[in-house]
Amino acid sequence: MTERVDGSSFGLDELPYGIFSTDADGAGDSRRVGVAIGDQILDLAAFFDDPVFAQPTLNAFLAQGRSTWATVRGRLREAADSSRVAQCLVPRSGAVMHLPFDVADFVDFNSSLQHATNAGRILRPGDEPVRKNWRYQPVGYHGRAGTVVTSGTAVRRPHGQIVLDDRPVLATTKKLDVEAELGFVVGAGSHLGTQVPVEHFADHVFGVVLLLDWSARDVQAFETVPLGPFLGKSFATTISAWVLPLDALVDARVPAPAQVPAPMDYLRPTESWALDVRLELSVNGCVVSRPRFETMYWTAAQQLAHLTVNGASLRSGDLFGSGTVSDAVEFGSLLELSWDGERPLRLADGSVRSYLEDGDVVTLTATAPGSRGDLFVGSVSGTVEPAVTTR
Ligand code: CA
Repeated sequence: MTERVDGSSFGLDELPYGIFSTDADGAGDSRRVGVAIGDQILDLAAFFDDPVFAQPTLNAFLAQGRSTWATVRGRLREAADSSRVAQCLVPRSGAVMHLPFDVADFVDFNSSLQHATNAGRILRPGDEPVRKNWRYQPVGYHGRAGTVVTSGTAVRRPHGQIVLDDRPVLATTKKLDVEAELGFVVGAGSHLGTQVPVEHFADHVFGVVLLLDWSARDVQAFETVPLGPFLGKSFATTISAWVLPLDALVDARVPAPAQVPAPMDYLRPTESWALDVRLELSVNGCVVSRPRFETMYWTAAQQLAHLTVNGASLRSGDLFGSGTVSDAVEFGSLLELSWDGERPLRLADGSVRSYLEDGDVVTLTATAPGSRGDLFVGSVSGTVEPAVTTR
């Protein structure tokens, strides 16, 4: 088996999990768990002969917990060159990928200080861009789990109440945006009324996906005060079809950025780490941004500890997004890149964008350092479809 460790495809150092089928229309009963290796999928239902892998979602496997995740990964790495593996490979070109897990709850954080500052300056000029609470807690909101879709699903331009000529009207969004994020997938749940300590992150979180948080900025602008994001965000969130285990990212751990003021005790691990994941956001094949995930102010472990500090329980399949990844020079949304249209962006193909147009294809890919070269973290994309007028 050819192993490629060059950051452009999945090899034995990644071994991400997904749900695939080989029916012509992808909608039959053959959905099952697979692991991507190069241009092949290892059919885990065939390889292990275990019903947990003969299921249309990863949830049952996710619920089995950290020691099982490690055991399965170890067995796959040991068996990589065996004839048994060769017998269970399916060409990726002949497979259809599906949403990898039933999303239980979806939370989206806002943990890039640069993004929070930029958004504050754009949306509330003259005001303090980052409010006092932001440096004390990883702020976030509960999103809509049922509209999380897998990579490749078309995203229809949404309607909503927007303000035109000082008057709110129901109209299609004129400011369709997307935010480049990393998503964290909860495997093992927790009990209602208990807290998940910041050190227990890896006992609960299975892995990461790349996440596109589609955002209708004009809808968001009119609805957000007083209760936060609602219909401006809930129409679609796209995640990559392959879930990369945290175990694949051990060599991507780097010290987390300094935090001032020092976080409260429940947000202060003995060893605070960030992930050196390098994102690349493209529109119609033209790269518009390459933000560094390691610059995020709040870490994923802190986000999880905060999410449960009030006793809210976790379930297998919970998904939490990092928030837009923007660093000091590379911004992860068109809101920031075009400064809400003040500085339209010229793409490499000569076209100009303030926000997304119908037909635009947005793609987010990422790499991270591994022990033998760059890891391929994954890829997620979505195409903007024109609105359908319903009234
Ligand atoms: Ca977001």
